[in-house]
Amino acid sequence: MRRPSSVDVSSVDVSAVDVIATKRDGGRLTDDQIAWVLAAYTRGEVADEQMAALAMAILLRGMDTAELARWTQAMIDSGEVLALPSVGRPLVDKHSTGGVGDTITLPLVPLVAACGAAVPQLSGRGLGHTGGTLDKLESIPGWRASLSRAEIAAQLADVGAVICAATPTLVPADRKLYALRDVTGTVESIPLIASSIMSKKIAEGTGGLVLDVKVGSGAFMKTSERARELAETMVGIGTAHGLATTALLTDMSVPLGRAVGNALEVAEAVEVLRGGGPADVVALTVTLAREMLALAGISDANPAEVLASGAAYPVWERMIAAQGGDPSAPLPVATHVEPVVAERSGVLACDALAVGTAAWRLGAGRARKEDAVQAAAGVVLLVEPGAAVETGRPVLELHTDTPDAVPGARAALADGLEITDGPAVRPALLLDRVDRVSRRDRW
Ligand code: URA
Ligand code: CA
Repeated sequence: MRRPSSVDVSSVDVSAVDVIATKRDGGRLTDDQIAWVLAAYTRGEVADEQMAALAMAILLRGMDTAELARWTQAMIDSGEVLALPSVGRPLVDKHSTGGVGDTITLPLVPLVAACGAAVPQLSGRGLGHTGGTLDKLESIPGWRASLSRAEIAAQLADVGAVICAATPTLVPADRKLYALRDVTGTVESIPLIASSIMSKKIAEGTGGLVLDVKVGSGAFMKTSERARELAETMVGIGTAHGLATTALLTDMSVPLGRAVGNALEVAEAVEVLRGGGPADVVALTVTLAREMLALAGISDANPAEVLASGAAYPVWERMIAAQGGDPSAPLPVATHVEPVVAERSGVLACDALAVGTAAWRLGAGRARKEDAVQAAAGVVLLVEPGAAVETGRPVLELHTDTPDAVPGARAALADGLEITDGPAVRPALLLDRVDRVSRRDRW
C-alpha cells in the first residue's frame, strides 16, 4: 500500500448516487469519490440513507488495498489529528477488538508506562455483550473520561499513561458512520471495521500500535480465518501510513479472568497491578506489554517482573487521580448477589458469549448507545473454566441492582455453562501473530 495523500475536495464534482452505483456494480471508487463522499457525509450533505447504501455496497463488494488506504485517509481528514507534542518518551498504544471480561487495558496501560513508554489510550464505551473500557473506569468515584488535548499531553508527560474518551474532533466521520452501520447491518464489513479502528489510532498520533484481535464465541470475529483477515487488513493500513503495527490473535471462547462487569473488572485489574490476579489476565497483559515495548524501542524493561512486583500500581494510582478519580475509594457493590450452583459433578466448561450476555442482561452493558450501565453488575467466576466442580457447589455469582434481570441472565447461561466428564480443553490464549501482510490485493 502506498501512503495516500489528501485531495482538495472542494474542487471535485461527484454525486452520491454515482458513488453508490460504482460500488454496487463492483467497481473501484476513485480517490476523488472517496474523499468527496466522506467529507460531504461529515458535513451532512450526503444523507444517512445514501451512506447506508454505500456501506452495504462496500460490505458486499469489498475494497482493494489502495482504495482502503485512501478511505482510511479520508476518514482521518474528516476531523483533526491530535498532534500531541513530544512528551519525552516514545508513544505506543494498543487496541482490542473486544471480548468478555477483557480487563487487559486497565493493567496494561500503567504497566507499559512503568516500563518507560507513554500510552495515549483513546477509548470507547461498550455496546452489546462486550464491555467498554470507559464504562469500567467510570465505576471509580470521581473519575472523568473527557480530557482536552492539553490535558492529555500534560498527563502523558507527567504520568505516561492516559485512558480517556476520544476528543470530539477526532475522526468525526467514524462517529456518524459507526452509529449508522450499527443500525443497518453493516458493522461486519472487514474494510469498514479496519478503517474505523485504524483511522482513530492514526489520528491519535501514536508511534506504534499493538492490536489484540479476539477470536471465538465472545469476539466480533468468530473464526480464526476472519480474525486473521481483519488483523492483516489493519496491519496493512498501519504500514501504509507509517505506523508500526503488530497484531496478536488471542482466544475469546472463554471469558478472560474471573470478573466480567465494570467495577468487578476494575477490582480484578487492581489485583493484577498489585502482583496477583488470574493467570490468564497476567499472561496476556505481559505478552501485550512486551509487544508494545518492542515497538517503542524499549529493550531493557521486564514487564513480567514489573507487574509481579507491584511497581505498576503507583502509576495506576497517579493515572486515576490525574483524571479526578479516587483510587482508594471503595468500588460500587451490587445490591443483589446470587450464586449459580453446579447441577452435577464434573469439569466446568464456560462459553464467553453466554457469560458476556448474562453480564449484559444483569446491567453491565447497554442495548442502545444512550443507555446507562450499572457499575456493580456482572458475573464472577468462582471456579476457573476447566476445573472440577461438585454437585450443589456455587460456580458463578450473578451481581445486579435489578434482581428482575436474574432470570434472563440464568437463561443466557443455560446453554453456555456445561459440566462435562472432562478432560478440559481450553484453547491456547495466544493463537497467532501478524506483523507483516502476506500478498493480497483485495479485502
Ligand atoms: N470498533 C470500532 O472502532 N469500529 C468498528 O467498526 C468496529 C469496532
Ligand atoms: Ca476479566
